[in-house]
Amino acid sequence: MFASSPTDPILPGATIGVLGSGQLGRMFTIAARRLGYRVHIFSPDSDTPAGQVGDVERVGAYEDLDAVREFARGVDLVTFEFENVPSATSQAAAEVVPVRPAGSVLHVAQQRLREKTFLADHGFPVTPFRRIQSVDDLTAAVRDLGLPAMLKTTSFGYDGKGQQRLTPGGDLGAAFAGLGGAEGVFEAFVDFEREISVIAARGADGSFEAFPVFENEHRHQILDVTLAPARIPATVAAEAVRITRGILESLDAVGLITVELFLTRDHRLLVNELAPRTHNSGHLTLDACVTCQFEQQLRAVCGLPLGSVELRRPAAMANLLGDIWVAAGGRPDWGAALADPAIKLHLYGKTEARVGRKMGHLTATGRTPEEAAQRVRAARDRLIPKR
Ligand code: AMP
Repeated sequence: MFASSPTDPILPGATIGVLGSGQLGRMFTIAARRLGYRVHIFSPDSDTPAGQVGDVERVGAYEDLDAVREFARGVDLVTFEFENVPSATSQAAAEVVPVRPAGSVLHVAQQRLREKTFLADHGFPVTPFRRIQSVDDLTAAVRDLGLPAMLKTTSFGYDGKGQQRLTPGGDLGAAFAGLGGAEGVFEAFVDFEREISVIAARGADGSFEAFPVFENEHRHQILDVTLAPARIPATVAAEAVRITRGILESLDAVGLITVELFLTRDHRLLVNELAPRTHNSGHLTLDACVTCQFEQQLRAVCGLPLGSVELRRPAAMANLLGDIWVAAGGRPDWGAALADPAIKLHLYGKTEARVGRKMGHLTATGRTPEEAAQRVRAARDRLIPKR
């Protein structure tokens, strides 16, 4: 690979290495190839969503640091699509080529307690929380912060995995046992009006661009539908972007980061969590924005100027979980969903549909976010044939 200093832009024609091989890596790879880059994928699996569209799919364990170094020698830059890549893996890659966002960002964002502590220490608003290592810690947290509350594992948690809702009268011993011996975070329950996300990129030169704020509706703690722009006052949207910019600057992040926030019923913003990567709520940028989140990630990590984040039209995205395949007897009715010409279909190349597994998504644009959401939900409903 050609020699470059850490500040030189990495230009089209170069090869990007991606750690992780899921749908975020797949859509990143498609964007990068559109701009003339080559993409190599590294993950423990084969025939993966990203590997299917990359130039090279390397299969290896993240813990196999020699394999990671060898992978890094074949690329000009390493990024990741999955924050649970071990720190040692990104460090091994960084011995060979630039890794963006840096391992230090990954380190903060991959562990809830570290993340919440970082946010609180830097003055960003978060719901009160406590570290939980014993039933006594849990009892003390309930006494201090009250119930209801959320108890989450500190690591490997996303899409509500490793989370329990604690309610008055519940068995704290059983809740602690539910952590399975892992460290936990107790969070005061947030009575929110809406959940929103801000996806923003920061370049090595400090340039910054945030997509319009997205509004997210969850089902069973998994993202279900995103609307853009979020139906919130402009002052609240501006504040969410200001918080996001502050977080990226405090982390000195180069790349694209997502900040999930709660808007409370008394109109305060609280940061829920960070993802040091593109995000499910940003998938509608593929069809509705001048630059999609994946191209923006590419531009940021490669040192290219950031693209326009303009939303061309109000839009909505609905996730397609494996549940739909199960309900449709393995044959979702694609023709029925696409009968509305405004609907765009994205499938991730996963062969096995399991309940709760993200298989793809639908996007629609409309005159208003509500209209787009109504169309995308109706299209999704049509995937399951009426018996
Ligand atoms: P997370 O994996 O932390 O993003 O949580 C998944 C979802 O659970 C969030 O999007 C919320 O809908 C809900 N949730 C998580 N933490 C809290 C909290 N402290 N209070 C209320 N709801 C929460």
